[in-house]
Amino acid sequence: MALLPLVGSETRVPLTVPLDGAATVRYANLDYAASAPALAAVAEAVTRALPLYASVHRGAGYLSQVSTALYEQSRTAIGRFVGARTGDVVVITRNTTDSLNLLAGCVPDGARVLVLDIEHHANLLPWQRIGADVLKARETVAATLEALTNALATRNYRLVALTGASNVTGESLPVAEVVALAHAGGARVVVDAAQLAPHRPFSLAATGADYVAISGHKLYAPYGAGALIGRRDWLDAGRPYLAGGGAVTNVAVAHTAWEPAPQRHEAGSPNVIGALALGVAATELTAVADRLAEHDGALRERLVSALTEIPGVRVLRLWSDSADPVSVVSFTVAGHDAGLVAAYLSAEHGIGVRDGRFCAHPLLEARGVAAGLRASIGLGTTTEDIDRLVRGVSEFVTSGP
Ligand code: PLP
Repeated sequence: MALLPLVGSETRVPLTVPLDGAATVRYANLDYAASAPALAAVAEAVTRALPLYASVHRGAGYLSQVSTALYEQSRTAIGRFVGARTGDVVVITRNTTDSLNLLAGCVPDGARVLVLDIEHHANLLPWQRIGADVLKARETVAATLEALTNALATRNYRLVALTGASNVTGESLPVAEVVALAHAGGARVVVDAAQLAPHRPFSLAATGADYVAISGHKLYAPYGAGALIGRRDWLDAGRPYLAGGGAVTNVAVAHTAWEPAPQRHEAGSPNVIGALALGVAATELTAVADRLAEHDGALRERLVSALTEIPGVRVLRLWSDSADPVSVVSFTVAGHDAGLVAAYLSAEHGIGVRDGRFCAHPLLEARGVAAGLRASIGLGTTTEDIDRLVRGVSEFVTSGP
């Protein structure tokens, strides 16, 4: 029984070869890290809101007032979900990529940024584009923290961009510790919580991090909304992310006066349904936050120990001493193309996994991996899903194409 009910959890998919005599099978979704299915509560809230759908912040009519209220309530729920402090701003964006690009555009001119080479491209390329230094992660957490400390001592960094949990291995550096190191060196920290937030409670207030970015579609809320939450000053001073209506206080032909954040960065008609979905998901997840780790920790453990027993399977790790990874597990099957294994698992076992380079090319390259498979666990994952994957991989290794 899932911690929170999801839509579509009984979806059946066709098989090219009947499995245990059946031509279809319940879909074993092991790709939550890419996009998670919607919570039933989110689907219901969206269905209820659709008839009330009207322009946000623009109309005087009753439905506009309702939509505006829903939008702003969602902003509050999102802020609460990430432990925003008084004064922090919640900018509603499209997703984590959008949030991090937005922040990159607000970093003060000439500010130096430091990022590790293990990041998802969404938390690497926006910084690379503005000339960030990319630090190579070391083989242990301890050595990587030491390398970070040394880097922070050698240059005057203003921002460290850090993953909350790797989208390849689920591992992370201790965020509060990195924040303390960065702050001691005069730098702020932005946490890419795209993979962390679906699995663990995260708090700006508790960690001291300055900014956090999240994606709704990884948090059981579809519809293309995400958020950037954090300190106001850079967001108020930064160039408006998009130029257009809703972000301005006054426009004359010669001069435009811009709103402060968040409106400054939300030009155009906002995605009210997306924001609503994200707000509801955030509230629902907050209610079960202290049980998330237990739920997926046991499943992750079951998966990793069974995969490790299969000849030729290598489970990827970033660090030998990391603690409490979230349930994202990548692996390779020696001598076999990852794409072929993934296609086999889908066609003959009804399992959805990700394959490829996971938008983390430097991470894979540094570990000598051309391409891998990734199984990621979420609220609807069952032990049967895990066991089916293990059986599928074992069968592929012993008798696959
Ligand atoms: N950061 C991490 C760690 C991710 O796993 C992802 C997506 O997989 C992203 C950022 C980008 O998220 P989005 O595609 O929602 O912008």
